[in-house]
Amino acid sequence: MSNDNPAAAAPSKEAYCVKCKAKRPMKDAQTVTMKNGRDALQGKCETCGTGMYKILGGKK
Ligand SMILES: [Zn+2]
Repeated sequence: MSNDNPAAAAPSKEAYCVKCKAKRPMKDAQTVTMKNGRDALQGKCETCGTGMYKILGGKK
């Protein structure tokens, strides 16, 4: 049993794509920290390549 998710893994890399007008899996997703100190997930729509942004968490 060594193949579970690493600690830093995001829950589900899914975000709303404004171009597809639907939720899509995120490609090249990476965690970034915003100015206000909150974490967000930044990536691209797997379908159309549009940039996506998803704010993570909400409670700490
Ligand atoms: Zn899309």
